[in-house]
Amino acid sequence: MKKLNKKKILKECRNCKSKLLTKLFSLGNLASSGKFAKNKKTHIQRGNIILMMCKKCSLIQLKESYNKNYLFNKGYGYRTGINIMMINHMKKLKKDIEEKIELKKNDAILDIASNDATFLNQFNKNLFKVGIDPLIIHFKKYYKFIDKPISNFFSYENVFEKTKKKFKLITAFSVFYDLEDPNSFLNDVKNLLTDDGIFLLEQADLLSIIKLNMFDTLCHEHVAYYSTKIISEMANHNGLQIFDLKKNKTNGGSIQYFICKKNAKIKINKNKLKNFLKEEILETFDICWSDNVKARCISEKQDNLYRKNNNPKVRSQFALYAYYKNKLEN
Ligand SMILES: [Zn+2]
Repeated sequence: MKKLNKKKILKECRNCKSKLLTKLFSLGNLASSGKFAKNKKTHIQRGNIILMMCKKCSLIQLKESYNKNYLFNKGYGYRTGINIMMINHMKKLKKDIEEKIELKKNDAILDIASNDATFLNQFNKNLFKVGIDPLIIHFKKYYKFIDKPISNFFSYENVFEKTKKKFKLITAFSVFYDLEDPNSFLNDVKNLLTDDGIFLLEQADLLSIIKLNMFDTLCHEHVAYYSTKIISEMANHNGLQIFDLKKNKTNGGSIQYFICKKNAKIKINKNKLKNFLKEEILETFDICWSDNVKARCISEKQDNLYRKNNNPKVRSQFALYAYYKNKLEN
């Protein structure tokens, strides 16, 4: 069987560029789950799903990444508007946004990976609406009321060239984990955002993926899996900051990150972020504690042997857990 056109094998972390990468586990050589075959004869390409972790920033990411022009093209099975749950979720998102920002006549809004424009089509006609997604070419009929549909992958140049605008609202739903270069994406978002604008990023977060066994999230399209800690650090690194966040049950379990520029005059909910980060660490410890996740961390050579000494016996897991729990709670 033909392999997916291999684009590259991971040599350095997609976030911090460290070369210190360690293998977690492989799900094997799988057919692309985003493609929906028309009939049994349609060939679906396969590729390995191997998870790696960066030892420096802890980002979990795919070792092999595949040609995105194959993944996000004809036969891509996901369309927002066919799922009533997603339509209702998009309606709810619009309400959540309107609680945070007042959109006025002629304000520009941009939805990245806008799919079939389900989200954009809810907004009033007097806003300047822009959608960018390589799938637009297949979904043209849903874009009648969108001022500027751009059938391409997102970048500052691809948007600015066509619009010459800055945006009061930028949204990116379930797309951030598709990116080969997430920092350049955030930098481009910052450069397209007005000083008082907000950027809403939503996706399944790493803790939900592990906690709820969302194994179907591990797939060829998703090249990295982000914790809230990493999202927060990356936003800061690119002149942005999380000012609020909210959990929901989309795609199993997701988090909405409301992000603004570092110099924006927007109230930052620092305590909420702090509590999310604390909960993330505590729950990750709980999972390591009660689950068999640790079995995946045993070195491949099985050389992490027990070393005998004369110190009093300590159950290291109990001690480590108690130590961090105490540290986080005080
Ligand atoms: Zn890294």
